[in-house]
Amino acid sequence: MQITFWGVRGSYPVPGAQTVRYGGHTSCVEVRASGGQSLIVDAGTGLRALGQKLARSQRGGEKRHQILLSHVHWDHIQGLPFFEPAYIPGTTIDVYALLTAADELQQVIGGITRHEFFPVPLEAAPAQLNYLEVQPGTGIWMDEFEVLPIALNHPFGSVGYRIKERKSGEAWAYVSDTAPFGEVLHKQHFLHGLEDLTHEDRVALAAMRVALVEALREVDTVVYDTHFLPEEYARFPHYGHSTPDHALDVCAEAGVRRLVLYHHAPSHGDDQMDAIAARYAEVGAARGIDVVTAREGMTLTIGAAGPERHSSSGTTLPGVGRPSSPGGGEA
Ligand SMILES: [Zn+2]
Ligand SMILES: [Zn+2]
Repeated sequence: MQITFWGVRGSYPVPGAQTVRYGGHTSCVEVRASGGQSLIVDAGTGLRALGQKLARSQRGGEKRHQILLSHVHWDHIQGLPFFEPAYIPGTTIDVYALLTAADELQQVIGGITRHEFFPVPLEAAPAQLNYLEVQPGTGIWMDEFEVLPIALNHPFGSVGYRIKERKSGEAWAYVSDTAPFGEVLHKQHFLHGLEDLTHEDRVALAAMRVALVEALREVDTVVYDTHFLPEEYARFPHYGHSTPDHALDVCAEAGVRRLVLYHHAPSHGDDQMDAIAARYAEVGAARGIDVVTAREGMTLTIGAAGPERHSSSGTTLPGVGRPSSPGGGEA
């Protein structure tokens, strides 16, 4: 299984001379199984170029695309109206999202393609768009993939995804967007700061972190929202993002082999990204974790999950409940 990064930025796209090497497009990752099936995780502006590639290989034939959304903030959906396969008749696009997002998703996407803003409403596009609900902790089988949605700590909610290739046992996870789990609990669009956390809030945060670590247990590669440096995070905890140090703590606890820094702050130009990459490669090495910094266009080959590194069997990962049948977990 391979993953390719089409957009690695958070918040908004930053094209320009300062982002040539790491890239300026927002969140989008392509997943490809050895058998040929592909998935898309998040639909930021990186989705446009991926859509052009997919449309070329589609050549007008009938085709289904599956897009897993972490949440519906702009930097994770803005590429959807520019996804070329949406304009090819015979195409089906399944968009997976959280319940709170999914029940408003058509309205949200329809909103950004209203006639004031965009020439063609997405609902009028020739492709069939289906909105499907995901539930944290409930696995979904998608032919070659077994997908586990994971609850994250982010304004209005967000889900990560652990994605396993069933045949090989290879597994990686996408953990974006999320704040750490100790200081701020984001609930819907409001939040509680440290001093305001109730006992129930602390219990909820602790449970969320336990479930995340369990889901990542010995996964080969984790792509994590590391938007902020520690000194920046201290000023903006309410934005709902983590630092590489937060990600390393979670990955170390889960026994992850490789951490990919992702969802880079738009203010971090190439030179600063080089410094961050070097700094955290060293910090990671000291903790036994291979730290890689995501760049647009980068492809990584995923290894088997820990318990299966010495086995070829494609059994279920620890922490996955019995997966629903194909098409299960849908709204
Ligand atoms: Zn984001
Ligand atoms: Zn967000």
